[in-house]
Amino acid sequence: MDKNLERFLNEISVRNSHEPEFMQAVREVSETVIPYIVSNKIYHGKNILMRMVEPERVLMFRVNWVDDSGEIRVNRGYRVQMNSAIGPYKGGLRFHPSVNLSILKFLAFEQVFKNSLTTLPMGGGKGGSDFDPKGKSDGEIMRFCQSFMTELFRYIGPNTDIPAGDIGVGGREIGFMFGQYKKLKKEFTGVLTGKGLSWGGSLIRPEATGYGTVYFAENMLNHINQSVSKKTVVISGSGNVAQFAAEKCIQLSAKVVTLSDSSGFIYDKEGINSEKLNHIMDLKNNKRVRISEYLNKYPKAKFYKSKTPWNVPCDIALPCATQNELNKNDAESLIKNGCICISEGANMPCTPDAITVFRKNKVLYAPGKASNAGGVAVSGLEMAQNSLRYSWTREEVDNKLKDIILDIHNSCITHGKEKKYINYEKGANIAGFIKVADAMIAQGVV
Ligand code: NDP
Repeated sequence: MDKNLERFLNEISVRNSHEPEFMQAVREVSETVIPYIVSNKIYHGKNILMRMVEPERVLMFRVNWVDDSGEIRVNRGYRVQMNSAIGPYKGGLRFHPSVNLSILKFLAFEQVFKNSLTTLPMGGGKGGSDFDPKGKSDGEIMRFCQSFMTELFRYIGPNTDIPAGDIGVGGREIGFMFGQYKKLKKEFTGVLTGKGLSWGGSLIRPEATGYGTVYFAENMLNHINQSVSKKTVVISGSGNVAQFAAEKCIQLSAKVVTLSDSSGFIYDKEGINSEKLNHIMDLKNNKRVRISEYLNKYPKAKFYKSKTPWNVPCDIALPCATQNELNKNDAESLIKNGCICISEGANMPCTPDAITVFRKNKVLYAPGKASNAGGVAVSGLEMAQNSLRYSWTREEVDNKLKDIILDIHNSCITHGKEKKYINYEKGANIAGFIKVADAMIAQGVV
């Protein structure tokens, strides 16, 4: 290992040794950014990466709420305000029992680079709670969200920090949190994104992350004179990102054969068409049940309990569920079965070993900070529309989204070009780094 890299990682791990996901994200960025810093004198002597891995502020707070049986419950709330060099903190809130500081710091760190890549003026942050929304009534969700916002509202604002959704936080939760913020602050402002259309939301925001992930795959394939059309696609997850990634694949005439949740995956060899996808959306968004229920209506499909879909033959893989859901064996199996393109819808879904396999085999691989940036990009467009007190049409937002994803793709090529191969990971890290680092240097040691 390069000496500079080793020294840097040793120093960081002393401070963060108990945070494996955060260390994984820092290592992944450092491996490509440190050599870039070494070869560019303007960054010497500034300790710039060390400043970037330390959050500007971390908030941790108690969230009390009362469940339907009258019992008092206690959860932990967080907001990691990572970096505000190029704009107010921006990033989602995750409600999942696995949430801890390590996961939120990794997500916030990735978010800084991702937001920089969009070219919109947004810093990076992330937050959430170890609250588990599964099996809770609407009333319980509302009381939790209100309690969470009763503390968080002090630290956020339309020019300070603008949270959005993530795992376990969709339109319903954003609505409850927005309502509570408005009541406490006595003002109607664009403090959250992912809002409902009639109260400040943007068209295409729900679709943006999934659509963007597929647009990125299309850009990578176009670059080697291929396209998404007619390809077989394997997708994990069945939440917000997975659903709209599937919708866009179907619109582009690809064949989607899998979707999953934490209980296992469904394999529909004939392909999940629009009608079948609408049924999945109803199961997941309205009935809130397990993906295996799909077989009740479409019995020809198969359900694989507690398994991930990476052994299914495909041309394109879109991991859209969660971090570290695709490991080295999965990567080898994908390649053996013909996969040529991986575009991450989730954040850090592929383990470092899996990425090494992709790179060795020179298949197209896009890291989430580039390929799933469509969500935060349209959140940025939602903020712009809120400031203008105006709404753009569906086509206008979708065209802006396509342009932003194409720009990110091209930045990755500029900074990630290697002999006969585009290293999208390196390209995304360096392009994201430059803008934030230059702004930090210009603003002095603060
Ligand atoms: P949702 O909560 O809507 O859906 C999450 C999906 O992933 C569900 O199908 C869920 O299954 C599955 N899942 C979650 N945790 C696990 C796990 N530990 N093992 C297996 N499956 C799991 O979240 P989103 O679709 O919004 O987010 C998915 C990913 O995309 C996350 O990594 C998120 O950070 C990333 N992302 C999201 C953006 C957005 O705009 N929403 C923007 C950019 C990235 P189950 O229902 O069983 O829990």
